[in-house]
Amino acid sequence: MTIPAEPGAPDAAKEIEGDVVGILGNGVLLDSHKQTWSYDSCNGHSDTKGQYHYHIPPLCLLEEMGVEFADSGSSWWINANGTAVRDYDSMASQFSETGSPSPIVGRALDGYPIYALYDEGGDLQRSAEYGGTVDECNGKLDSAGNYGYYITADPPFAPSCLKGKDIGYFTYHTTNIRCPATGISNTILTQKPPTSVPTSVPTSVPTSVPTSVPTSVPTFVSGASSEYPSWNFLVFVAAAGAAVLLF
Ligand SMILES: [Zn+2]
Repeated sequence: MTIPAEPGAPDAAKEIEGDVVGILGNGVLLDSHKQTWSYDSCNGHSDTKGQYHYHIPPLCLLEEMGVEFADSGSSWWINANGTAVRDYDSMASQFSETGSPSPIVGRALDGYPIYALYDEGGDLQRSAEYGGTVDECNGKLDSAGNYGYYITADPPFAPSCLKGKDIGYFTYHTTNIRCPATGISNTILTQKPPTSVPTSVPTSVPTSVPTSVPTSVPTFVSGASSEYPSWNFLVFVAAAGAAVLLF
């Protein structure tokens, strides 16, 4: 990975080419892509190229760096029964609203620092869409006028765009080495999180009513936990007689 040493002042937001946003203090990549809700006990997983990465708040790294984490631990994104993905407000509520200011936990591809869940005032960082003080790229200026990104408690969790004038690059390296050899315990849920309650009133009403009612309730795969090597990102889950391919 090559990143600018002096990112300078933030510029216009730029789309990220590819999934990689930056790198965290333990050498693990930070990605920003569509959620797949299949994470190991450190809240990481592998991508389609077999590259391990984070893109939601990662328990193990943040605990090692002294950042307050959810009491529910690595399963902060799973409901209390362990059977479904929480809605986003419920995910954020797993984290204390205040905590010690986050240290720098990584660097983005444009050279700006990445902080974890709490800003210099000790406030939990919510994304712009969820009422937070960060911008559309999950970043903001601190009191000294220095720009940095935050891992937020709700989507997009990791920066989904970058504001540096120059953007660095990352080159993939692949390996067949199993790490660790015994595999990693993963929790895989196929259910998407419910969206939050709308804050505005619909401006139109349906012009027709359904002509039939459902004959069965939706089903989801409950708390499936499997052992598989971290490089093997293909997981088959049997649900309602169908095979579902996750990655
Ligand atoms: Zn991912």
